[in-house]
Parts: sequence; structure tokens; C-alpha cells
Amino acid sequence: MSCDIGMYGLAIMGQNFALNMASHGFSVCVGNRSHSKVVTTVARAQNEGNLPITPSDSPQDFCSKLKKPRKIVILVQAGKPVDMTIEALSEYLEEGDLIIDGGNEWFPHQIRRSTELAEKGILFIGMGISGGEEGARNGPSLMPGGPKEAYDMIEPILMKCAAKAPDGTPCTGYCGPIGAGNYVKMVHNGIEYGDMQLISEVYDILKTIVGMSNKEMSDLFHEWNKGELESYLIEITAKILAKKEDRDDADANGYVVDQILDKTGMKGTGRWTVQEAAEQSVAAPVIAASLDSRYLSARKEERVAAEKLLEGPPEESKPLVDKDQIISDLQSALYCAKVTSYAQGLSIIRAASDKHGWDVDLSLCASMWRGGCIIRAALLTKITNALTNNPGLANLLVDKSGFSAELNARHMAWRRIVSLGVACGIATPALSAGLSYYDQYRRGRLPANLIQAQRDFFGGHTYERVDKPSGQTFHTLWDESHKDIGDLTGRTAGEI
Ligand code: NAP
Repeated sequence: MSCDIGMYGLAIMGQNFALNMASHGFSVCVGNRSHSKVVTTVARAQNEGNLPITPSDSPQDFCSKLKKPRKIVILVQAGKPVDMTIEALSEYLEEGDLIIDGGNEWFPHQIRRSTELAEKGILFIGMGISGGEEGARNGPSLMPGGPKEAYDMIEPILMKCAAKAPDGTPCTGYCGPIGAGNYVKMVHNGIEYGDMQLISEVYDILKTIVGMSNKEMSDLFHEWNKGELESYLIEITAKILAKKEDRDDADANGYVVDQILDKTGMKGTGRWTVQEAAEQSVAAPVIAASLDSRYLSARKEERVAAEKLLEGPPEESKPLVDKDQIISDLQSALYCAKVTSYAQGLSIIRAASDKHGWDVDLSLCASMWRGGCIIRAALLTKITNALTNNPGLANLLVDKSGFSAELNARHMAWRRIVSLGVACGIATPALSAGLSYYDQYRRGRLPANLIQAQRDFFGGHTYERVDKPSGQTFHTLWDESHKDIGDLTGRTAGEI
């Protein structure tokens, strides 16, 4: 018995992805460190229509049941368990076999594994998977990176098992060499952090400033999900806000969301994205603000103590609430901030791609995120089109075919929302960070001239002048007491 593909690691993701591949007609051999998950997976395969899934009881048995060259997807806990699994399996693999790790992995680990496996002639792909349990079973977004010949071996399976975008395009494709797929997935998760933070700020304004009930807010998000904000996260927010308690010991009229502790958890991919933004010298303030907000949320005890000490604006200073205007403005503000957040994420990918020579196609990234994954949104079709029409677009904000005009038409609403939050003492870190990014990006001259002067004053770091050729540096004697301080090359002001 020779299976088309092997699936090793049968927790939430692996089990469902194995069933997904089997339901598309591929015969799948399944393996897991502890055998109980193999038994569960086989039972599910039988219950779901006798899907072609074959059990294995050891790495050797697993590898022996695969067609050559072998193709193996690994979905175990990221980090050391992946290395241990690769070590256990590779003993039974041969030159030309392929391992695809689908975990949320830090991309340099994948580059290291690829190099180690290449010494044995084994091909390796690092593939980002998004969509959680439901996506893994019915169609996730799949972001593979590795040698092109390895991708070609697996492409027919990926194309069938991936989610389909609204136009039917599979939400997968070749991201680039090893590391690129995990990088694209990492930034996807950073954008996910931004989207979630932006929605939570909108919720805060609707609840705290406008005073809307959960039911009203649920209806509003449901409405928004029919228009330009249509997305998975808006859809689930509408459902979350409508969900009533069904526990015996809970208030029967209460809503679950009101009982949830306001401390956000995380697994690290948002932090990696912000670290990488800094590494690539790319501004990603919406994603960074969403990460900072998670850190602040975790300091619950400190916040409860601070609430008793620190004041917000007095009631009489708060502006009058015009509910219809705020709702309309919020829709525009959320849309604009989302555009800036996606622009930032894509800029991180572009910078890393240039640095590593990956040649990542940004329009493919946007296209792959249109279905199956957590950030799927109608907006991504517009982004895909903008980047397909103009692959060299410096930033989504300056897309003359659509986004620049949309931002120009909506930014006043965005400003009103950020001002409202400030006036009422309700923080909108991601909405504000997006607006500041927009206002900095759209200005030809920033106050960085003063920073350059300060750097030159205290450290002799020199500066360039607007009236002299680029690259020519100058140093000024700013103060008599500094006359002995030269620039960094030792030249004093008089010598320059
Ligand atoms: P998980 O909880 O991250 O990991 C559990 C699996 O890892 C089990 O199969 C477990 O085997 C295996 N494992 C743990 N330590 C091991 C070791 N030392 N040697 C061999 N196997 C070991 O599983 P998951 O949630 O399905 O996620 C799998 C991967 O997909 C992770 O990288 C995760 O970040 C990524 N991912 C998850 C989601 C999601 O929604 N859960 C979404 C996208 C991506 P035993 O059964 O023997 O304990």
C-alpha cells in the first residue's frame, strides 16, 4: 500500500488537514508520536465517508507506506518538536524525498533545517497555514516557501486543498525560497493583530462613548459585513456580540463577551512581525500599537490600581454624541486604518524579500489571503488588483487607481474619530497610529530636519542640506562651547 502523501502530527491542525487532503481524493498515511491520535483520525475518516486514510504505528512504518519520492507534511508543536520529528523521520527517508513543515515557525529555523536536510538530499518546504481548525479541514490559506522543484512536487495537492478566493482562485502559490512562506505567514499574523485591535477600538467607542448595546453593535457589524468592511473578523465579531450565556450558573440575559477577562493572550507571531519591521527599518505602527495594547491589557492589576488614581476628561468637557455621524465615521476610519495596516505589512514583506533575494510577489500574498485565513476580507481583492496592475507600487496609500482617492475621501471621518477618542479619554492606539502614518507618509517635508540638527549639535553626526547634492554632509558649530567637537570624521565645523 503506497499513499500519495504522509501527514505526521495529528493534533487540531494535522488531523483536519489529513482529512482535507483525503477528501480531495489523495491517499494519506497518518502518524503521530502518541498512537491515540492516529486511532481518532482513522475513526473520523471512516465516519466522514470512508476517506482514504492509512494508519501507521512508528516513523519507520509511516515512511514505508508512502509513494516515492515521499511527500510528508509535519504539523507538530513548533520549535524543538519539529526538529525531533524531522530527526525521527529522516532516518527512513531517501534522496529526493520532501518534508513540508506547516507549523508557525520562526523563519530562520526553517532556513537552518533546509540546509541540514539538503546535506542528505532531502528537500524541505516551510509552509505557513492559516485558518485554524475549520480552515485546515475545509480549505486553509497555504503559504509555502522552499526550492521550486520541491514546490512543483506538492503544488497539485496544495491547489486542491487550499481555500478558494471568491473568484475561485486557490489561496496558495509559490511564495519564494525557504523562509519566504513562513515570513509571509508571520506578517499575515501581524496584520491579524492589527485588524483585531482596530475592531476592538471601534467596539470601545460604540459601547463606551455612543452607549450602544451588544445587540445593536452585533447588528451594526452584521450590516458592515455586507459592504466594504466584509471580512471574517467582522463576521465573527457580529456573532460574538450576540452570544448569550448558556451556563446554568450565569445570568440568563447576560452576554458572554461581558464576562471575558480583558487580558489578551498571544503566541509570539505579532511580536516577531514588529521585531522584523524594526530589523527591516520599516514603519509598522498599527501592528506595533496592537502588540503594545496586548502588553498593556496583560497588566490588569496595575490598570485597576491606576484607575483609582489617574483622571480622564471631565464629563462636561466631552463632546455631544451624534450617534449616526459617529457610526458613519467609524466605518470610514476602520476602513482607512485597515488600508494603512495592510500597507505596512506588505512593506515589511517587500523589504525582507529585497534583503534576502526572495522575489516575493506581493499581489500573490494579498490574493492568498482572500480565503481560508483569519484576515480574509473583501479589501484584499482590491489590494490584489492594485498590486497586480502596478507591481512596483511604493505603498498602497499611493495607489492612484483606487486607494489614494478612497483615503482622500474618508480621512476627515478618521480624524473626527481619533479626536473624539482623545476628547473622551478613550484610547484608540491603532486607529491613531494609522492616521499618524498616513499624515507622515503624505508630507513631503517632516520635522526630521530638527532631529538632524540636534544629532549634529550633540554628536557631530552631520546632516545633508536641501540646497546641496545628496550625500554631501555638513557640520555646524552650533554653540561656542562645542567648538572643539568635530563631526564623526574628526573634522571641526571650520574645516567643513
Ligand atoms: P500543537 O498543539 O501545536 O502540537 C501538538 C502536536 O505536536 C501533537 O501531535 C503532539 O504529539 C506533537 N508533539 C509535541 N511535542 C512533540 C515532540 N517532542 N515530538 C513529536 N511530536 C510532538 O498542534 P496544533 O494546534 O495542531 O498546531 C500544529 C502547528 O500548526 C503548530 O506549529 C501551530 O503553531 C500551527 N498552527 C496552528 C493553528 C491552530 O489554530 N491551532 C493555526 C495555524 C497554524 P502528541 O499527540 O504525541 O502529544
